[in-house]
Amino acid sequence: ALVVGRRVRTRRKWKRVVGVLKELEESCETTVGRLRQVVDAMAVEMHAGLASEGGSKLKMLLTFVDNLPSGSEKGTFYGLDLGGTNFRVLRVELGGQRSSFDRDVAQQAIPPRLMTGRSEDLFDFIASSLQHLVEKGNDSEQSPIIKELGFTFSFPVKQTSVSSGILIKWTKGFAITDMVGKEVAGVLQQTLARKGLNMQVAVLVNNTVGTLALGHYHDADTVAAVIIGTGTNACYWERTDAIIKCQGLLTTSGGMVVNMEWGNFWSSHMPRTSYDIELDAESPNPNDQGFEKMISGMYLGDIVRRVILRMSQESDVFGPVFSSLSVPFALGTPLMAAMHEDDSPELTKVARILKDDLKIPDLPLKARKLVVKVCDVVARRAARLAAAGIVGILKKIGRDGSGCIRVGRTRSDTKMRRTVVAIEGSLYTQYTMFREYLHEALHEILGEDIAQHVILKVTEDGSGTGAALLAASHSSKSVDNVQ
Ligand code: BGC
Repeated sequence: ALVVGRRVRTRRKWKRVVGVLKELEESCETTVGRLRQVVDAMAVEMHAGLASEGGSKLKMLLTFVDNLPSGSEKGTFYGLDLGGTNFRVLRVELGGQRSSFDRDVAQQAIPPRLMTGRSEDLFDFIASSLQHLVEKGNDSEQSPIIKELGFTFSFPVKQTSVSSGILIKWTKGFAITDMVGKEVAGVLQQTLARKGLNMQVAVLVNNTVGTLALGHYHDADTVAAVIIGTGTNACYWERTDAIIKCQGLLTTSGGMVVNMEWGNFWSSHMPRTSYDIELDAESPNPNDQGFEKMISGMYLGDIVRRVILRMSQESDVFGPVFSSLSVPFALGTPLMAAMHEDDSPELTKVARILKDDLKIPDLPLKARKLVVKVCDVVARRAARLAAAGIVGILKKIGRDGSGCIRVGRTRSDTKMRRTVVAIEGSLYTQYTMFREYLHEALHEILGEDIAQHVILKVTEDGSGTGAALLAASHSSKSVDNVQ
């Protein structure tokens, strides 16, 4: 009787844990119908954000980038890329012919204390790295020729020109309060001058804008860029007459890149769980960056951690409640991806990560399988929502197939222009399952006939290189800056 009693209790415990998973699956559901609602909401919010300042949670920020590199730019330009976990400085030698450029790149992790300290320390750090690269390249600092720099600053900035803008707010865990409201390029320019660097900030851009620039440089059909890394965002090429909030805005090209800041997108059609609500409430920016908190690398691992914590609170099949599970961000997204993609029959990688990183030893295989399933649900929801976001942009610019000419009766006769979306960010490039789920959803939403014309092109290091290219195409020295 004792043994039977124990078995019944164990079964009940498992049932409770599996119940947590079932509930998660239900509340994360992303049927294609639901995704289409998200697509529509994205397109509607894009219109609203373009119609008036503050008209939507989507800021739809002007970039003043009204021409994209043509490929004929020449000379040496610098790029400086700040915005995620890493910081990059680069020098690009442009030969005047598409694809013929040389790069020298230096990358460094940003010390976490600089993300929440004083702006002076952060900018000093950036300028020193740049100084180092300039010295390394034997480019005499004292050269009388001013060097031009593209500064990629990947946070929401209200641009006042292509080379200046005011920081609206921080995201992705950065919190340097004395910077908010300041003119970002000006702060960098002053720091460079203080260090004796003869450099001019020629453009100040978001990383999505740099990615679009590089994407377009290689492939002129590129109309939008998406980043899915520590944070997430998108930008695209918009006609100036569609930017209603800036009536009378005139550019020679008739268009301008718009930085959507889609990380702050929100729609009631998005499947939200109690874990998302808790994560948001405990974050430094509650009620902010809702889309980003469901999609990007900074948060996915933490959603998984919260679910495992709930499971361990529900029942002791995970052993006692482990305090390491209560530590925010104890499970990073790279570890989540590694567990998710563990294809060994015994899930040995999962066991090792749980033991080494979360201090949960000896979890039975059955529980390890549950952990993998949790990773799957969270990553799949994120990837599918990101796909819906991309289709939302395509819808707004008439590239989702809904408004195109049909020359015959069948869908395969549909004429649709080749549409390239430049894409960057570690989640997309390094998390295979995430990427596959995203593609799958894109095809489900668009249908095969349309999806075959939509190409997601990885644009490696677009944010930094693209900024240097934009510095070239917007250079005061350049004569060749037409789109
Ligand atoms: C920022 C964007 C940026 C994105 C990707 C977001 O948190 O607000 O400006 O493009 O992260 O790095």
